[in-house]
Amino acid sequence: MNLLKEHLLLRHRDIPNIRDIDVYTRHGGYEALRKALTDMSPLQVTDVVKASGLRGRGGAGFPTGVKWSFCPAHVRPTYVVVNADESEPGTFKDREIIENNGHQLIEGIALCAYAIGSQTAFIYGRGEFKGPFVRLQQSIDEAYQQGWLGQNILGTDFSLDVYTHLGAGAYICGEETALLDSLEGKVGMPRSRPPFPATAGLYGKPTVVNNVETLANVPPIVLHGADWYRQFGTDKSPGTKIFCLSGHVVNPGNYELPLGTPLRTLLEECGGGVPGGRAVKAILPAGVSAPLLPGDNLDLPLDYESVQQAGSMLGSASFIVMDETVDMVWAASKMVHFFKHESCGKCSPCREGTYWMNDVYHRLCQGHAWPGDVDLLLNIADQMDGNCFCLLGEFSVCPVRSSIQHFREEYEAK
Ligand code: SF4
Repeated sequence: MNLLKEHLLLRHRDIPNIRDIDVYTRHGGYEALRKALTDMSPLQVTDVVKASGLRGRGGAGFPTGVKWSFCPAHVRPTYVVVNADESEPGTFKDREIIENNGHQLIEGIALCAYAIGSQTAFIYGRGEFKGPFVRLQQSIDEAYQQGWLGQNILGTDFSLDVYTHLGAGAYICGEETALLDSLEGKVGMPRSRPPFPATAGLYGKPTVVNNVETLANVPPIVLHGADWYRQFGTDKSPGTKIFCLSGHVVNPGNYELPLGTPLRTLLEECGGGVPGGRAVKAILPAGVSAPLLPGDNLDLPLDYESVQQAGSMLGSASFIVMDETVDMVWAASKMVHFFKHESCGKCSPCREGTYWMNDVYHRLCQGHAWPGDVDLLLNIADQMDGNCFCLLGEFSVCPVRSSIQHFREEYEAK
């Protein structure tokens, strides 16, 4: 079930074997790059991406063309770094693109590199992506063989080399500055900002860090134009989005839908509803890194603004469904344990706060809660809020606060 006649990103579902370069080029592949290199200036490429309204699909939703335009035109070298460190619980969309539609990603990388004047791109993948990266490397090799990567592409002055690199599996390396440190061979820990990567990123040089799904959007935008792209989605959240659906659903999986599609469509038409017809108790719209929403939000339009107005964030659009059987204190304890485990330890509010919250949850779930433990959790969350060095620490309080806000009686019962 899909509201799109054709996928923009998951094109392998419409065109078998599109990960083979011959199939990809037969279906318009690399035509956007040809158009850019022969008919457009780098600035025009950035401008069309800006005009499309494409927002970063990794979580922050920052306008992609604007991010590219922050790269200074006179400083060289510049780098493109692809964030393929897909580690958010419940997120598995980038992997599907990498494994099955790798050339669209490579073409998006080349377009980004052309726009910012870069000759070198790195694709940083999570440590567990060994298999997907074998496939991706095959696609890269094919692109070199057919002249879409390498020196003087299409006989122009534009040259590009693409390298892959696997991390060691730390969640924090999905944070773009920790990713850059890891890529440089250091321990992956967030850097202080400013300076931002656009001016001082990899090896201190201007760097654009974009997510896999974000870059896969670029070829159709350059090929068909901003107005064409804006026919999908909403005014402020244009385009399609891959929604990762998991948890208590009959048909979990990736679904590419226009932004603004109601949650009910995703859950019921695509996902087949909750097994056994049980009621939805809560939804996590962005893995564990955003406040959970109660189950009465099924008519919520899934775009950046609407989800924010409802009190959460669209983030990477990784929807985890929890039905009426879920113990919400237990669920929140699992999320807090995850953050405690993944905290890099650089700053004390996160290092100590996640540890402390995890301790309190352990008491609650083991039946040894102390009077005032619920307020203690809220107190710790308040102390962490705004004081953590990066968003991992800030996000770690989301499941705590939102589960207490909506399901406090379950905490009191323990
Ligand atoms: Fe590390 Fe957590 Fe501090 Fe981020 S907030 S720097 S993950 S300790």
